[in-house]
Amino acid sequence: MEVFDIHVHTVTKEIKELIDYAKKLNVKKMCLLGDVLKYGYNQSEEQVREINNLTIELTKKYPEFFIGFCYLNPRNSKKFIEEEIERCILKNNLKGIKLEASVFASDKKVFLIGEIALNLNIPILHHSWNTLAMGKNPNPTCYQTDPEDIVILARNFPKLTIISAHLRGIDIRGIISYKNHENIYVDTSGAQPVVGIIEYAVKKIGSERIIFGSDTYYPNGRDLPVQLKAVEKSYIKTGDKEKILFKNFKRLLKV
Ligand SMILES: [Zn+2]
Repeated sequence: MEVFDIHVHTVTKEIKELIDYAKKLNVKKMCLLGDVLKYGYNQSEEQVREINNLTIELTKKYPEFFIGFCYLNPRNSKKFIEEEIERCILKNNLKGIKLEASVFASDKKVFLIGEIALNLNIPILHHSWNTLAMGKNPNPTCYQTDPEDIVILARNFPKLTIISAHLRGIDIRGIISYKNHENIYVDTSGAQPVVGIIEYAVKKIGSERIIFGSDTYYPNGRDLPVQLKAVEKSYIKTGDKEKILFKNFKRLLKV
């Protein structure tokens, strides 16, 4: 079964090895989200531009294999955010927006970005985690978005496609929160696989709203085959696996 991976980071241009490795696992396309942790959680405008420059460069160098999302820090100026979206999406063909942990998804600063994404008809992929399960974050500048924050964004923009990262991170709590919000999708990435969570998500929100993501952070980070096997070997129907592994990606990102 072919595989499209919506959640990949790279810190380097030397990425041929990753492409060859992924192809052996039948991965046909990867979506680059940028080296979002390079400068902490509150990047300057210059740092955001640098993160996106690498994504743009790689999508141009390997257009058949990579698509990319524009990374943004909602705490940057409105003028910069608008210019960076124009540069990345309209001029350089990136396909969506990636937000990490600079502010919560429920922050009004994200609403500006939500409005623009809606107008451009592109998705936002937002970091998310169940913070009750992880304890207090030791970094005071890191705003870990909980499923309830994603729901606030989704309620304010019911027509915006929001992809909540890390099914394993948001866990059962996230799935329950998202059940009635059709514009929220989840990617399968995050932490080590746990038996039953993919099956639970398929049962509660349906496979149409689940997209495979590995959270490969090349050259280190999460292991692609481990993340992939968690879906391939889960106890769900073949039709559901097809939607999660490639059909939903193709539909949402029009590739
Ligand atoms: Zn990630």
